[in-house]
Amino acid sequence: MSSNPSKLEINKERVGAWDKGKEQEFSTLSKFVAVYCNNHHETGKGQLCRECRELLDYGHKRLEMCAFDPKPKCRDCPAHCYRKDYRQRVREVMKFSGMYFVKRGRVDWLIKYFTR
Ligand SMILES: [Zn+2]
Repeated sequence: MSSNPSKLEINKERVGAWDKGKEQEFSTLSKFVAVYCNNHHETGKGQLCRECRELLDYGHKRLEMCAFDPKPKCRDCPAHCYRKDYRQRVREVMKFSGMYFVKRGRVDWLIKYFTR
């Protein structure tokens, strides 16, 4: 209970603010959702079905409201700010699209994303 390795600062000014880190994270999320949607919901390239659009919008909102400074990787974050059903969906998206990009050798920015 007493071990809390990463020190997370809450900075209220970060709430509702959009910065480069959040922007980068969102652009990654967008790519993942797009690949997932195009391969599961018969949407064309550059398109999202309503459900996936909703999920992405939700992710955008959560990211916008994140007050941690610096922002931890979402998977390491103690807050778990996603609602349970969205969290489950994002997890599926990450699993599928992660494999998709790995199979296509698109690991450069993927590794950067997960190890930064
Ligand atoms: Zn979809």
